[in-house]
Amino acid sequence: MPCTDTTTQPKPLTMFDDDTPIAQLLDATLGKPKLLVVDDQPINIQVMHQIFGSDFQMFMATSGPQALAICKDNPPDLVLLDIVMPGMDGFEVCSQLKADGATRNIPVIFVTAHSDAAQETHGLDVGAVDFISKPVNPAVVRARVKTHLTLKFQSDVMRKLVFLDGLTGVFNRRYFDQQLGMEMARSVRNSTPLSLIMLDVDFFKRYNDHYGHQAGDDCLRQIALTLKESLRRPADLVARYGGEEFACILPETSFEDALALARDLEQRVRAKNIPHERSDIAQVVTVSLGVSGRDAAGAGDAGVLLAEADVQLYKAKHAGRGRACGQLTKLA
Ligand code: GH3
Ligand code: MG
Ligand code: MG
Repeated sequence: MPCTDTTTQPKPLTMFDDDTPIAQLLDATLGKPKLLVVDDQPINIQVMHQIFGSDFQMFMATSGPQALAICKDNPPDLVLLDIVMPGMDGFEVCSQLKADGATRNIPVIFVTAHSDAAQETHGLDVGAVDFISKPVNPAVVRARVKTHLTLKFQSDVMRKLVFLDGLTGVFNRRYFDQQLGMEMARSVRNSTPLSLIMLDVDFFKRYNDHYGHQAGDDCLRQIALTLKESLRRPADLVARYGGEEFACILPETSFEDALALARDLEQRVRAKNIPHERSDIAQVVTVSLGVSGRDAAGAGDAGVLLAEADVQLYKAKHAGRGRACGQLTKLA
């Protein structure tokens, strides 16, 4: 069905008009939002394409099963879902999306030609966030989509915040533990190496005592930033493991490469030239690092890998600090 108004030039779709931290965080993480349009009539898909094509990455499905497959493979940020389709109808598609943890948080808006109160209630019962009637009015559909995307992105950010360290902005220990378990399972399954770096700031108690806790906090922020800037692969993860300790998970990275990286991190922190008058080993802040890794073969145990990195960190401390020590972990 043709849309009712194609003459007015729509305003570019921006998610947020404010400058809040959430908006900034989203701007930093957002590319074009992904929109899935599900309708058995290609002409209806075309209409949505005209409305959203320039602001969104568009995905199309002409049947329920196809829509579910797309949502699993490459979850969109929002689904516009027709109700009446041969085979699996929109209600069923929505129910299945809401029943699966991986797709539950994708907002669904029903787009239907015959809406009545009972249908609308049923749609909301199965988990849709809104209802739009066909033929669609471009301004209305854009406004509704924008509202629901805003809410979706805000709740994505809230979920993420639970896993971020408040002081430094890197991931927290809860997320680290969760990811390490996942990466270990993946590493064993795919027979790929996995390495770990633990890092501890040297003489940090003295740093705090001498420069004050506020300066100590700033120092931790600078170190976190240095680590984040230095680890460039998308799968690498930096976390604050506790107090003045950080940990890095390096998937598909050999032990040798991880050890070289740890030495590089040591140099980079040193090169920040953060004065530390009370250190016994340098005029500036230094760190000690412990590295462990599993090679591509054999079993895997996240606890063993973590314990080994800790042992190696202890070794680095006792060998004089301001250095990295490491050991490849062989598991039967
Ligand atoms: P070592 O070289 O052996 O690691 O000595 P250290 O002084 O760094 O180690 P120790 O474990 O004795 O002291 C760690 C210090 O880190 C104590 C604590 O005050 C400080 N610290 C831990 N968390 C924070 C934080 O969030 N902010 C600040 N400013 N300091 C912290
Ligand atoms: Mg410590
Ligand atoms: Mg320390």
